[in-house]
Amino acid sequence: MAASTALPACAVPQTGPLAQREFPEPDHPYRSPFQRDCGRIIHSRAFRRLAGKTQVFTDRGSDHFRSRLTHTMEVAQIARTIARALGLNEDLTEALALVHDIGHPPFGHAGERALDDAMQQYGLRFDHNLHALRIVEYFENRHLDFRGLNLTLAVREGIVKHSRDYSAQEHPELAAYFLDRRPPLEAQLIDLADEIAYLTADLDDGMEAEILTLEQIRSGVNLFERYFAPLAAKHPGAPEKLLFQEALKLMLNALADDLVVEIRRRLVAEGIRDLEGIRRAPERLAVFSPEIEQLRWEAKEFLYRNLYLCEDMASGHRQAAQVIADLFAEWMADPSLLPPGYFGQVEEEGAARVIADYIAGMTDHFVLKMHRSVRKMVVPGRQ
Ligand code: MG
Repeated sequence: MAASTALPACAVPQTGPLAQREFPEPDHPYRSPFQRDCGRIIHSRAFRRLAGKTQVFTDRGSDHFRSRLTHTMEVAQIARTIARALGLNEDLTEALALVHDIGHPPFGHAGERALDDAMQQYGLRFDHNLHALRIVEYFENRHLDFRGLNLTLAVREGIVKHSRDYSAQEHPELAAYFLDRRPPLEAQLIDLADEIAYLTADLDDGMEAEILTLEQIRSGVNLFERYFAPLAAKHPGAPEKLLFQEALKLMLNALADDLVVEIRRRLVAEGIRDLEGIRRAPERLAVFSPEIEQLRWEAKEFLYRNLYLCEDMASGHRQAAQVIADLFAEWMADPSLLPPGYFGQVEEEGAARVIADYIAGMTDHFVLKMHRSVRKMVVPGRQ
């Protein structure tokens, strides 16, 4: 890792407007506001449900695949390391990493696509960032004095903006989140820490699932081969599995290291010295160097071609899409089949939004259970 150069003026401060909450609360004697946000996220029900949500693999017979929860912990570890190297706000970065996937529905990206397809039939969209905001502002309900988790403004802004920008015209409801400005670096780096985590983890899990082979990865992912070939030459006879893990670790380090160096290089090159400069920059500053960016794309394309969209995974994706489409259609046809708490919101929010909220919160296991029970309920009465 490159030598640490602190960029304290670029960090989100522990006090001030970004550390404020919608419902004011007294300061804690020894925990920063963002440390408290980390605690609130970890203790939430939605966070615990990440343990039961697919990252890439749904039940393929190994206990070693990443779930959304273990993926989230890996992202938090990587993001916090990068934040520390850059002298950014580590507590805020950790909170943003912990919450970054909390809005994801069951069955990974197949589930998200299916939910979005169902919503589009009613002129709506499903967006996991906006759903995450609804979870922390509304669905989590464990405080006497307010609804939701009452997270700081910086965390709510990061939930909305860590991976994409939203236009103020299309989303007037997000006006409080400085839509015409870039997010702080702590939020910008989450999306890339996420990529670093899954590019490497999915190669690992793809091997574990016996969908990817070492030869395939060596010939298709140059950033992996860059480390694997010299290790194999230096350690003839070493177990292949250890060489693979060692090379994967070096690949992960190279991506994280490059991000630290490139962010710092851009800040210096563009004369940006503080948070205001980051917010006013014409583009996001958390990016990889051009060389690593190219290698990252190559690795990502390799994973799409050989893993995410491969024939071996397709039947699982079709099943996931069918389960979600069926449930959505059944509840749209008769919203009174929803649990009373959700049914009670239909008048105010519309059935499609309420059904999407309900399905998005489910674990893989629970959505399958609901699919079985809803079909049992409706099949005798309908054909
Ligand atoms: Mg993620």
